[in-house]
Amino acid sequence: MTPVIDLHAHSTASDGTLTPVELVRAAADAGLDVVAITDHDTTGGWDAAVRALPPGLTLVRGAEISCRWHGVEPAVPLHLLAYLFDPGHPELVDELARVRAAREVRGERIVRLLQADGIDISWSEIITAAGGGTVGRPHIAAALIRAGLVASTTEAFGPDWLGERYRLPKDDIDVFRAVELVRAAGGVPVFAHPRATRRGRIVPDELIVALAAAGLAGLEADHEDHSPAEAAHVRALAAELGLLVTGSSDFHGTHKSVRLGAHTTAVEAYKRIVAQARGVTPVASG
Ligand code: AMP
Ligand code: ZN
Ligand code: FE
Ligand code: FE
Repeated sequence: MTPVIDLHAHSTASDGTLTPVELVRAAADAGLDVVAITDHDTTGGWDAAVRALPPGLTLVRGAEISCRWHGVEPAVPLHLLAYLFDPGHPELVDELARVRAAREVRGERIVRLLQADGIDISWSEIITAAGGGTVGRPHIAAALIRAGLVASTTEAFGPDWLGERYRLPKDDIDVFRAVELVRAAGGVPVFAHPRATRRGRIVPDELIVALAAAGLAGLEADHEDHSPAEAAHVRALAAELGLLVTGSSDFHGTHKSVRLGAHTTAVEAYKRIVAQARGVTPVASG
């Protein structure tokens, strides 16, 4: 039988709503054979996920790194999935810590802006609810929902709220430096949802060409934020550049409606990722 491989999922180590333990159990229950834990800017969920790994499930340890491309003004934010890198690589560890700190600065500033407009939500409550995980706008969205100000995360990301009016940039990692660091740490970098126009601005194909030359391994094509035409474009570009192609759910628990395994990666692409990795290996229980 063809293995079911989902290479992008979040836990409470960032802005997902399942703990790493619950995530691997949910992945097994959903019938996955391989799942990647890819929390934003952290490896904090790895160990708990490894310890809780159910029989039959293979865990790919990864992260989703907050990057920025400075080739246009204002710089474009983008996400880089990094698989199987050494979690102790000093420069990468430092950069991830810096970005997590920058997220807290930015989150608190967003909350101050909301408070200045008379919106009664509390930063300390948001930090407490994040429980030590990487803080993101979904945590602020959850506070807006608790306060009865919006009905859903989707509404909280609308233009009147976190999508535009109360949107602030964070101090991300330059995308070329991130690709270089992930490779230096023995990891395999894959550009997450590169054509997701519905999430905001996207980068031109020329940047992806340059990133491929700089060490990018692959592109995420099948993703809920890509239309069929966008996914097809990504697949064609990957073929042209010799990059591998992934498909993933980008599961976030109840912060999003997408289910584990909603999009999947072909076994050939998965094998290419594993073959390139020099940091850590996939883990299977038993
Ligand atoms: P941040 O990392 O703080 O900038 O927040 C971005 C995160 O918010 C993404 O990783 C998604 O999990 C989530 N997100 C972004 N756009 C939306 C949206 N339109 N609806 C729901 N969640 C979103
Ligand atoms: Zn997220
Ligand atoms: Fe992302
Ligand atoms: Fe993600």
